[in-house]
Amino acid sequence: METKVIRKLFLGFIQVHILFHASQEPFFGVWMLEELQRHGYRLSAGTLYPILHDLEAGGLLKREQRVVEGRVRKYYTITAKGSEVLEEAKRKARELLKEIGG
Ligand SMILES: [Zn+2]
Repeated sequence: METKVIRKLFLGFIQVHILFHASQEPFFGVWMLEELQRHGYRLSAGTLYPILHDLEAGGLLKREQRVVEGRVRKYYTITAKGSEVLEEAKRKARELLKEIGG
């Protein structure tokens, strides 16, 4: 069982991951859940949605509604501010890997 401190530690990785995909193409919540699971992060919708909400509230993601096959879905894309933060996160991730051996 993950402790709070460990969850917090990996939250940053998850957020960077989300920003990266938002920079590639718009995604919806369930798609992101499966994508994160594919990368070994086990989290529920109840954990993911507050993270998406925080990124949106911070101006890093924007949300839009789209109708796909008769269903309304909320899609997320990156904002200009989000792109800047992602670039900075990439620099910091490279720096970190250089230090810890990636
Ligand atoms: Zn991915």
